[in-house]
Amino acid sequence: MGSSDSTCLSHDILIVGGGGAGLRAAIAIGEENPDLTVGVISKIYPMRSHTVSAEGGAAAVIQSSDSHDHHCYDTISGADWLADQDAVETFVEEAPRELLQLEHWGCPWSRNPDGTVAVRPFGGMKIERTWYASDKTGFHMLHSLFQTAIQYDNVTRYDEWFATKLLIEDGRCQGVAAVELGTGQVRAIGGKGVIMTTGGAGRIFPFTTNAAVKTGDGMALAYRAGVALKDMEFVQYHPTGLPGTGILITEASRGEGGVLLNKNGERYLANYDLGEAVDVNDERHPVKRTMELGPRDRLSQAFELERQKGNTLQGEYGDYVHLDLRHIGEKKINKKLPFVRELCQNYVGIDPVHELIPVRPVIHYMMGGIDTDLQAATSLPGLFAAGECACVSINGANRLGSNSLTELLVFGARAARSAVRFAEQNSTINKQAITAQATQEQTRIREQFFQPGKGTETIASIRVDLNRALEQGAGIYRTEESLQTACDQVRELKERYKSVELADHSLTFNTELIAVLELGSLLDVAEAVTHSALQRRESRGSHQRSDHAERDDEQFLKHSLAYQTDGNPRIEYSDVSITRWPPGDRVYGSK
Ligand SMILES: Cc1cc2nc3c(=O)[nH]c(=O)nc-3n(C[C@H](O)[C@H](O)[C@H](O)COP(=O)(O)OP(=O)(O)OC[C@H]3O[C@@H](n4cnc5c(N)ncnc54)[C@H](O)[C@@H]3O)c2cc1C
Repeated sequence: MGSSDSTCLSHDILIVGGGGAGLRAAIAIGEENPDLTVGVISKIYPMRSHTVSAEGGAAAVIQSSDSHDHHCYDTISGADWLADQDAVETFVEEAPRELLQLEHWGCPWSRNPDGTVAVRPFGGMKIERTWYASDKTGFHMLHSLFQTAIQYDNVTRYDEWFATKLLIEDGRCQGVAAVELGTGQVRAIGGKGVIMTTGGAGRIFPFTTNAAVKTGDGMALAYRAGVALKDMEFVQYHPTGLPGTGILITEASRGEGGVLLNKNGERYLANYDLGEAVDVNDERHPVKRTMELGPRDRLSQAFELERQKGNTLQGEYGDYVHLDLRHIGEKKINKKLPFVRELCQNYVGIDPVHELIPVRPVIHYMMGGIDTDLQAATSLPGLFAAGECACVSINGANRLGSNSLTELLVFGARAARSAVRFAEQNSTINKQAITAQATQEQTRIREQFFQPGKGTETIASIRVDLNRALEQGAGIYRTEESLQTACDQVRELKERYKSVELADHSLTFNTELIAVLELGSLLDVAEAVTHSALQRRESRGSHQRSDHAERDDEQFLKHSLAYQTDGNPRIEYSDVSITRWPPGDRVYGSK
């Protein structure tokens, strides 16, 4: 590797991640205090961040028939009561303002004929409150944020820099060590406040909607620095991904009327309890079956039960069912779901206007993440986190679709405001000390991966085995035995990881180096997921234990907190904040 540079780059506030949460945070710092300097580190060009691929939409109350209480209730019951209700209330209250603000920055929200903002139904949201920009919502959101962020002169971007370690001095996080991918150099980049916005970690599983870059790096960095990862056992399957690629067929396709069919052409969801919805506008028939618009965890579980009954179809990439959009018609598909049509034509060679789409549950989202409070602060002074890498928590045991894009905005901005306050009170960076730490980090990386003759293991074999361990041991349904096996396998894989040697020792854009660093993150995240799941002996939301089939509020109405140790992680628990909605059955929409 290249020699480390003795100069220390530094900013008042450092943001790690150039996706939706990171860019919203960068703008909020400019709004809050334009005199502060900001560094934004991103391992890829920001516009390639996963936020760009979000299709369906972003939730916020806008219709007169809706209310903040309805949005809170849907989110909390959808989360199977594991969400912190004070966080949900804050989120719901700040959500409409954030989406409106985004329009002023250029996001072209789709409109009704009368010019009002259009909203579409989404799973688990009884009242339509999902704002959308056709079916390319994330693309338009990220563009609007990026265009706005680059208007601020105080923002310096470090595109294609890979953060590998938090730099902690005097008990405060004062920056990160990062590899400049173009040169292979490890540099210290200082920040009086550091905001982690590095996104999710779906790549611990084999079939996922998540981009290849979603490897949980930020979660791993915080975990290694002693910060807890919260509620990691809750991993969301999305019921409709394309087999093989895992490409998402957005929930909006069901919101617009798409139905799921088994191999006999039956709408099999009618046979399952998906929770009921309460229609606040229908006094005579307030309770409705949710069917295709039930929450994602229940739909994915119904698929698995249908598979066990032999009612799914078999294909090259395992079992699947059909999503039928044909009755929606070409005109509406072209207007509201053009990207779905494009994806089906390009990736499966079928046209959903005339043909059935093969779909299966695929990993989509991590409800868990870096433990933060309402102000997005972590237990490590100076470190803040927002977006999918964080767990504040509004998503509890199961996120409702379209809450996440809004979460990026609300908590990205809140993290920024907290970091600004922190930076104003902690005005020094110990540049000498963090530069020395970055030099050590460079030595560690060189010794671990670049020494000839050390390695017997390949990145690919560990990654494949990790994916298999998680799919088999910690999938839609889990047991003590399957999880214990997965924990043991992850431990063995971590041992094997020590014997990986890179074939490519070059310094310029060494993609093998990136892959091995990402694999290290995946292993740490997988460790937290499997151990948290092993110890939660109940079923709640996305975490379904065949051997503990009931929700157990007495013991487990608690957040899990995974702390890294030299051996297995230590799992502790913290209380869930309940403000106005005592735990009950999962019913969507409050009366
Ligand atoms: C296909 C798909 C569709 C979705 N659709 C919807 C939807 O319709 N509605 C909804 O609400 N949610 C949706 N989601 C979820 C939502 O899009 C994500 O949760 C959200 O966009 C994550 O944003 P983020 O800013 O937290 O992270 P990301 O957008 O993933 O950005 C992460 C950033 O961190 C950087 N980074 C990561 N690691 C490092 C490192 N080591 N060093 C430096 N930089 C690093 C990356 O370069 C990137 O810039 C969807 C998700 C997927 C996968």
